[in-house]
Amino acid sequence: MSFKDVMGHERPINLLQRAIAQEKVVNSYLFLGNEGIGKTLVAHQFAKALNCLEGENRMDGCDRCLSCKKIDRHLHPDVSLIEPEGQTLKVEQVREMLRGLAYRPYEGRRRVFILAAADRMKTDMSNTLLKTLEEPPLHTVIILLANNPRWILPTILSRCRSIRFNPLPSHLVSDWLIKEKGLEEKEAYLLASLSEGSPGKALEIKEEIAGIPRKELLAGWMGSKSLSIEEKEGWIESLPSQRENLHLILEMAKTLLRDLIVMKTSMEGSRLIHSDLSEEMEEIVGGWDLSSLLKRMEILHHTSRAIRGNANTRLSLEAMMLSWAEG
Ligand SMILES: [Zn+2]
Repeated sequence: MSFKDVMGHERPINLLQRAIAQEKVVNSYLFLGNEGIGKTLVAHQFAKALNCLEGENRMDGCDRCLSCKKIDRHLHPDVSLIEPEGQTLKVEQVREMLRGLAYRPYEGRRRVFILAAADRMKTDMSNTLLKTLEEPPLHTVIILLANNPRWILPTILSRCRSIRFNPLPSHLVSDWLIKEKGLEEKEAYLLASLSEGSPGKALEIKEEIAGIPRKELLAGWMGSKSLSIEEKEGWIESLPSQRENLHLILEMAKTLLRDLIVMKTSMEGSRLIHSDLSEEMEEIVGGWDLSSLLKRMEILHHTSRAIRGNANTRLSLEAMMLSWAEG
């Protein structure tokens, strides 16, 4: 595959292609965007275009020459992807990369180092890397991939050309899941709705999603007009305390509530994410007015934002359940 086969990300690809065409490729890039969104894929296509044997200043890899083929198979000696082993990048991994920088490209025109999870580097490592970014070796392109720019040293940020990768539209993700991964339409649509525009995340949450009791969430919580203290406590106890898992359940709750709102307003052309639960939803939605549904959506948004922002999960859930009862 090459740039032209990448799903979405027209803007970043455009910027990179223009840089090649105008011979303005810089030594260090920072690709920013959600995990699993396609940053590594684009970085690889960039490396292919930079080294394609069909000619210099090509805007895209040819996919036929030896260089393109080697990069596709991760066998090109001048193109390396450095990914964390475990949670963070290890000092040794970064050192090894930096050692490689001392040499000219073996067979390509440019050495390309793709450093994943650059926002999960320890400070001493960042400082080592910074020295290289300040005096980048010729014929070298370093591409840092990161999700959260707040965790990257400002001195590093200032040395890189930042390129932002926006979430992909949900329909692109679901089409991809159906065509490339063979998923059924219903599952693909649900996963895409929860993926935050990231195909990688859609695949990652597949198993987890299957384990979430959607029917119970809908009937026992989303669809309940009022909850007793015991029921509220019960829900808080039943929800996972781990931030990431809890976040996913709240996102799932949002999609259920979103479907109820779609049904209530009979929005034309909007399909249900949980079409298999439409009977249950029909039953619930009759007893609701739109403003209460919208208010609950707001509560959910507020809670999931707070939990993302490191608020105490238990307290946030208690506050949410309290407002829930008032609705
Ligand atoms: Zn080629």
